[in-house]
This record gives sequence, structure tokens and C-alpha cells, in this order.
Amino acid sequence: MQTLSAKNRFHRANISPRPNQRFIRALTQQELQRADDDGFPRASFTSDGDKTRPHLPLDFFHQRKILNSQQGQDSGHWKIESYQLRAKTQSLPIQPSTLKSGLTVTFLGTGTSQGVPMIGCDCEVCRSPDPRDQRLRSSIYIETSECSWVVDTGTDFRTQALREDIRQVDAVVFTHSHTDHIMGFDDLRRFSHARGSMPVYASPETMRDLERVFRFAFNTSNPVPYYLKPEQHIIDGPFKLGETSIIPLPVPHGDSVVNGYLFSRRNQKLVAYLSDCSAVPDAIIALIASVKVLIIDALRDKPHPTHLSVGQALEVAMHVKPEVTYFTHIGHELSQSAESRLPKSVRIAHDGLKFRL
Ligand SMILES: [Zn+2]
Ligand SMILES: [Zn+2]
Ligand SMILES: [Zn+2]
Repeated sequence: MQTLSAKNRFHRANISPRPNQRFIRALTQQELQRADDDGFPRASFTSDGDKTRPHLPLDFFHQRKILNSQQGQDSGHWKIESYQLRAKTQSLPIQPSTLKSGLTVTFLGTGTSQGVPMIGCDCEVCRSPDPRDQRLRSSIYIETSECSWVVDTGTDFRTQALREDIRQVDAVVFTHSHTDHIMGFDDLRRFSHARGSMPVYASPETMRDLERVFRFAFNTSNPVPYYLKPEQHIIDGPFKLGETSIIPLPVPHGDSVVNGYLFSRRNQKLVAYLSDCSAVPDAIIALIASVKVLIIDALRDKPHPTHLSVGQALEVAMHVKPEVTYFTHIGHELSQSAESRLPKSVRIAHDGLKFRL
């Protein structure tokens, strides 16, 4: 048997591009006209783009605890401490909760399916110097004194969990199975190991998709140690997590129907979460009327087949009459600065934003 030295192996490696390999290039005029409605026509891939791309201030990263040792000394220290902690205990310490009766909501992500900035886009929002215009895929983290859970585990879940230093997830509640809401599912492993299993709450359709996409995790006949161990809970009506009652809110999302959720404690409607919807039926508006906080899909100003526009979301808010409305699932056609033209009680959420009720 012939063993190649490392030198030989590298010498033989062919790293030149294949002749038919395609590179990212500027769109032609014809392609621009054909391009979809999701803002892609504004994309360009100029080679000198980096020179003008704004750099984020370092204190933003310190504040958000983004784990990149190159971003500054403080975040580097934080990373090392947390590693040592894990190495010592091998388990996730329970987060000390200062809450007695309410809940805390953290926006893990507030972006649409492609995130903002969108790959290869030079538009004003994608190049905005305002860090709040950088949006990971939409998801929230809810903490109560009894337990904590996430609503959806999108593509960015791992990054979000590290950024927010999440130590405890007792359940996951899914809205629907689009990739921007489920692709971080496997990263629940860390929390599943700590608990022994991970309670998963989803509609029958969403659960079916989860089982198909993450078959290895659901395959109980051949359980592999250290795989995520989902504990299935099909949502067919209201349910409880600790002292929080959760009412599913079926809403149209283009051609499909997906779940939003109303979270109540002590018979008080605290938060309604409708991250993906193209309309809100009257029956749902009646159910969530006068909720304290409404979190609602508002992709952009222009109408869209599967998401609410800013105008439509404002109309829903007008009927629901919450104390505060937060827009989420924001696309790259809506900047954080657009908040200034909205009514005072309506805000555009941003990643890392937290509120307590
Ligand atoms: Zn979505
Ligand atoms: Zn853009
Ligand atoms: Zn969706």
C-alpha cells in the first residue's frame, strides 16, 4: 500500500476551478428584470464592495457578547470563562431567574428567511451602519420562573444561543416547518443532554416534517447516545408550559396555515406571537384582543404573497389594541430607521431586544 506524504498529497491536490464553475457576478439587465420580488434586483456583486462596506463598532459586539475572539478582549475573556465552566461541570448551570410571576421575551432573531443583510446585496439596508439592521432568522426565547423555551430553532439558532448566553431550554415550540424556523433543531442537543430529552411542541404537519428532516433524531429504534432526544407533543389545542398557558393561533401564511401563539399567565394575555402570516382572521383578532404585547410579521412596505406588509400589520394592531406592538420577520427593504414614521406604540424589533412583563 502506498502512503503519500503530506507534501505529496498537497502537491497532487487540484485547487484550480473546474472550467464550468460559476462565480458570483453582477446581474445582467435581463436577469434584473426577471429577478424575483424579494429585492434581489438590487443585488450586485462588485469586486470593490468591501472598500465601502461599513464596519460595526466594537462596543456593539461587546454588548451582544458575540463570540468572536477577534472582536475584542472582553468577549474573548467571556468565551474562555464559559468554556472553563463547562469543562468543570459538564452541565449547564440553571440561569438564576429574577422573575416571580411574569415572563421575559428575548428576540433571538427578527429577520426574514434570508436574513439581513442578504448574501451579496449592496442595498442601503444591507449596508446600513446601524447594527440593528443586521437580522438573524426570526425566533424568540421566553423565560419564566418555572421554565424557559424557544419558539422555533431557525438556521441561526446556535449563534443566537451563544450571543444571548442561553443556558436553559426546557422545550421548543414550533410555528411551522419552513427552513428558517427549523434548521437549527439539532443544536438543541446541548439542552437535550442536560435534561435527558427535549420536549417538542408542534402541529401534526410540522411534527411530520421534523420527523422527516431529522429522522436520525426521531429514530428511537436505534438511539445513538448524544443525539438529540425529542419528546413529541402534538399541538391540538391549548397547552401549558409551567404556569404559562399557550393557545395556538392558526393563521394563513400564503397557501399554508401555520401557528402563532398567545402566551398568558394568571389569565392575563401577555404576548401574542405571529411571526409568519399573510392575514389575521377576525376570530384570531378577537382571541388576542387587548394583549399586552403583539409581535407581528411586517416584512416590508410592499405587499407580499406570504407575509404581512407594514400597512397590513398596522391595521391588525389597530384592531387588537395591544399596549405595544413589535414588528418582526423584517426583510432588507425595511430599515430600523423606519420606526420613526410609525405610531408611538409600534416598534420595529431588533435582534437581542428583550422585554419583561
Ligand atoms: Zn419565516
Ligand atoms: Zn439588501
Ligand atoms: Zn414561513
